[in-house]
Amino acid sequence: MSDGYLENFIQSTFDAIGGIAGKCLVLGGDGRFYNDRAAQKILKMAAGNGAGRIIVGQNALLSTPAASHLIRMNRADGGIILSASHNPGGPAADFGIKFNMANGGPAGEAITDAIHARTETISEYFTVECADTDLGRIGKSQIGDMEVRVVDPVTDYADLMETLFDFNAIRSMFEAGFRMRFDAMCAVTGPYATEILENRLAAAKGTVVNAVPLPDFGGMHPDPNPVWASTLMEAMFAPDGPDFGAASDGDGDRNMMVGRRIYVSPSDSLAVLAANAHLAPGYSQGIKGVARSMPTSAAADRVAAALGVPCFETPTGWKFFGSLLDAGKATLCGEESFGTGSDHIREKDGLWAVLLWLNIIAQRNKNVKEIMKDHWREYGRNYYSRHDYDALPVVQAEAVMARVRDQIGRLAGRTVAGLTVAAADEFAYTDPTDGSVSRGQGLRIILKDGGRIVFRLSGTGTEGATLRLYLERYESGPEELDLDVQKALAPIAAAAAELAGIAEITGRTGPDVVT
Ligand code: MG
Repeated sequence: MSDGYLENFIQSTFDAIGGIAGKCLVLGGDGRFYNDRAAQKILKMAAGNGAGRIIVGQNALLSTPAASHLIRMNRADGGIILSASHNPGGPAADFGIKFNMANGGPAGEAITDAIHARTETISEYFTVECADTDLGRIGKSQIGDMEVRVVDPVTDYADLMETLFDFNAIRSMFEAGFRMRFDAMCAVTGPYATEILENRLAAAKGTVVNAVPLPDFGGMHPDPNPVWASTLMEAMFAPDGPDFGAASDGDGDRNMMVGRRIYVSPSDSLAVLAANAHLAPGYSQGIKGVARSMPTSAAADRVAAALGVPCFETPTGWKFFGSLLDAGKATLCGEESFGTGSDHIREKDGLWAVLLWLNIIAQRNKNVKEIMKDHWREYGRNYYSRHDYDALPVVQAEAVMARVRDQIGRLAGRTVAGLTVAAADEFAYTDPTDGSVSRGQGLRIILKDGGRIVFRLSGTGTEGATLRLYLERYESGPEELDLDVQKALAPIAAAAAELAGIAEITGRTGPDVVT
């Protein structure tokens, strides 16, 4: 909010993409505090830089998936999304600005590096003095020679969803009494979910809760996981809970899925969606391949193998999926951090995942628990959990990583806490489409029998460092498919603790968040 700060970043972005003279950009955000002010400043700067046309969501609202779609649909040159994703909003909380490229996906490293470099040398910015644009009114207006087109933020996105899914089948299911609870967490998906689920698909009024986007998200932390969406979890595990539950994050690209009395891990969700995508009209021709981030469980790999399509293991970050989608190598993508998507846009997409699940439930006429049990019987079960140690002093978090890294070259063949290590490395990725190499993407310890431990530091928190520990164990025997997840993973967790010395280095006796 300080003078010139936002202007510096926006001008550096415009400069880094070769200027925006005559270009078309999409603009919108998740409605958090400062969304409206930032949008007005950006419009004036776009005019000052000679942009041809800006397409803005009404009231400066656009979910990240809807922005990605609008960029592609209008063949825009890019888009600016105002959001800090799943981080809290408000005057003392988080705000962010993302730049997406003409393909609808997040800017790649070459562009983000160029933006950063420009912020260090910039000496001026361009803007115009004029009244604010009325962003509450749909229609066209001008700032000088630049056209401002205010559009309904929901309609085009909802129309895209209708082309991908069998809305008639889902509507029939709701009309027959299927009950759902969608928690929009006072963030941007409220209007999208209300229009699609309640208006177009005839879900009961009140299906969408916390449906109005608020500048401070009503004090909620819009991060869809069992901890921050605990009221949804309670509703889904209540004796008369709904048939299906879902939650979304601040900007609408993440999702959490819950059935009645069963939580679906994001890794399992990706695997089930891959195995059943052909039941939705948009994917009836089958999928070309699956991509998952490295820390995501190998459940999707087993589905890809059965389908005879490739499975790509990428570093964390949606841009790596974008290049596979652009090249037509993968159709579905997912990551354990509650992100799933497909080649319909170039961002992850929370509501899309919800609708694909609904389409599958409607076609198979089974509940979530039955679908999960069928899946595990067919493919085996990858027990999986992520343990987060939040807001660690950076020095401590790095010390934990260093301790594991120091051992990694000599772990293969060794036994740790009774488990034999098959292989261990620091994950590096070569992009199959452009040959670019990304190193230092997490420490992997692969155990005999399909188990795995991964250590990573997260880049999306804003306070200290978050150490993420990913635990996985594979079982295929019929008696081993219904264990308690944390109990099943206890031996793996013990091995991880012994290797990394987490308690000794950080003084923490357990994780802050378990998902
Ligand atoms: Mg997000």
